[in-house]
This record gives sequence, structure tokens and C-alpha cells, in this order.
Amino acid sequence: MGDVMSGQYAPRAETVVDLDSLRHNVALLADRAQVPVMAVVKADGYGHGAVPVAKAALEAGATWIGAASPAEAVDLRKAGVEAPILAWLHAPDEDLSDAIAAGVDLGVSSVAELRATEGARIHLKIDTGLNRNGCSAEEWPDLVQAARDHDVHGIWSHLASADELGNPSIDLQAKRFDHAYEIARAAGHTPIRHIANSAAALTRPDLAYDMVRVGIAMYGLNPVPRHEDLRPVMTFRSSVVSTKLTRAGEGVSYGHTWIAERDTTLALVPVGYADGVPRGLSGRFEVFLAGRRRPVVGRVCMDQIVVDCGDNRGDDPVNPGDEVILFGPGAHGEPTAREWADKLGTIDYEIVTNMYRPRVRRRYVGMS
Ligand SMILES: *Cc1c(COP(=O)(O)O)cnc(C)c1O
Repeated sequence: MGDVMSGQYAPRAETVVDLDSLRHNVALLADRAQVPVMAVVKADGYGHGAVPVAKAALEAGATWIGAASPAEAVDLRKAGVEAPILAWLHAPDEDLSDAIAAGVDLGVSSVAELRATEGARIHLKIDTGLNRNGCSAEEWPDLVQAARDHDVHGIWSHLASADELGNPSIDLQAKRFDHAYEIARAAGHTPIRHIANSAAALTRPDLAYDMVRVGIAMYGLNPVPRHEDLRPVMTFRSSVVSTKLTRAGEGVSYGHTWIAERDTTLALVPVGYADGVPRGLSGRFEVFLAGRRRPVVGRVCMDQIVVDCGDNRGDDPVNPGDEVILFGPGAHGEPTAREWADKLGTIDYEIVTNMYRPRVRRRYVGMS
């Protein structure tokens, strides 16, 4: 039985998740914000594994867990996470009974949602300008009135541009948030308040209120344009399966988009776009292999990439079995998730979250 699953895929690619780095980041964020920290573990912990991340974050001082869907929250409970969990996104027809029975706090943006979450402890969400979900300012007084007999634990909102230092929308949203809080207070509520994501937790401790909700910075990826002592938690690695000499003039990989200009040694690495290496990186990225960065040549295939290792006679010859770092913390010169994101015109959130896939095994360092 076990063989069917474990033997199905060779150990071709893995993400290494360093929970000690994660604990360091949580401690840094808690110290900066000086209020309780909610560790956001939606989307399987941004691709790092929701349960191990939640447990390590709680060990490091976080006191709340944040999830997107109630199902994610229930899975955390089933895995033994006992801390308060807030789940903020549910569909109108979603069955919330499991989440309510599991004692999951739920986000509420409307009177209709208030009815659907009957029996749960709730956090009323005011839309202060992101214009996604959240209750509008117009409907807010009705919502807080309707919620008078409910267990309202928090009011909260979400910032649109906290990663842009000094963006005026941040203060405007805070002002609207304060106003919404006054209305809730006047209706008899005494909730906690939370609006800050990672970027705000790092740069606007004055907006920490009673809790910060941190995701990306906990994973060691810095959302703000200034230095922070964050340690990237994920390393994506594989290893060389074979090397071979290729003659000058030969084309490599589909479409022969790269042609060897000289005789060269090519290393085959068994990871491709099915494993989280975006095909859009074809022809413009490097891996860290045998002591230095080396260019990946030709197109990224579904399961493989090809690395140009030159004459392969220097101090650092490449051999089958050698470790290949696709991205990592960057401390040894290896590429980072941020570099991939910049090349692809996206954000590192998307790069790491995209590593949540069955073909790539996950290994934890620092599991307690
Ligand atoms: C994802 C999310 C966060 C965390 O955002 P980061 O930028 O990753 O820190 C906080 N609050 C809500 C509502 C979110 O959806």
C-alpha cells in the first residue's frame, strides 16, 4: 500500500521549510507591533504547509491563526490547533456548521452573513477602501445594530496599499476604521480591532490596534521597500540526474531556442513547470549548482530543465546527484523567490503559494 504512494514519484523536487526562520520572523513581527499576532496560514500556509506553520508560529508567540475559508480553519482544528482561528471568506450557500461546532471565529460583512453565522463568535468587517468584501459605510450602522445580540469579538478591515510607504490611502482607511469603531461602540459593542497586514505591522505600528494579521513577512518575504531582518522560510531544491557533453552548434530543449556556442557540459535537472518552475522563466533564469549560479538554457519543459555548466573542468565540476537550488533565502548567492517574481512581473506571494502541489515533496527543518 505505502509503496503505491511513496514509490510513485522519485524524490525529484522538494521544498525545504525552515521553521526556525519562521519563528525568528514571528518574533520580529511581534516585537515590532507590540500587540497580539495572528499568523495567516491561508492557501496551505502560502505553500509552506498550514499545520506546521501554525504550530511553529504559535510556539514563537503568535496567539491567533488566520485562514481564508472555514474549511481551512476546520482542518487546522482537526490537526490539533487549539488557538483562536478566524476564517474570513465564505460563500453565501456554504454550510458553516462544522466551523461553528469547531469554535472557529467567522468574518461577517453583511446582515445576511450575520444570519448565516448564527452561533459563531464573529468579527464584523468594515470596508474602508479596498472595495472587496466588507460592509459599506452606508450599511454599517444597520449591521452593528443587527449584531447586538451576537457574539461580536472584533471589528476589522483590510488595507489596499500598506506596502507603499506613505500612500495617503493608508491614513484615510485608518480614519474610516476609527469612525466605524465609534459607531460600533455607540451600539454597545466592545470589540477588538485589527486592520494591519505584514506591511503595516512592519511600518505602521501605530495602526497595530489590538492585533496584527501577518502572512508574507512571517514567511520571510519582505513586502516593504526597506531592509528588514526577515529570513525567507522556503528553499526549492532538486538535484542533477545526469550530465553530458554537447557540441557547439547543437540546439537545446523544445524549439531549440538556445544553441550552444561552444562545446559545453549540460546538466539535466528533473523539475519543470509541473513542479512550479514557471515556463515564463525560460531563457532568463539561473540556478545555484556546485558553488555558483549557472544559467538554465532553452525552454522549461513539463518535467525538466537544462543547465549550462561550461567546460566543467574548473574547481566546481558538476556531477549527477549534486544539489540544485532553484530559489532560497539568497544568503549564499542562490536566486530568491523575489527574483523570480520580478522577472515574471508578479509578487513573491504567488511564487511560494504556487509550490503547493503534490509532485513536490515538503520537508521541514526545525520541527519541534
Ligand atoms: C492574506 C491576508 C492577510 C495577510 O497579508 P500579508 O500581506 O501576507 O501579511 C491579512 N489579512 C487578510 C484579510 C488577508 O486576506
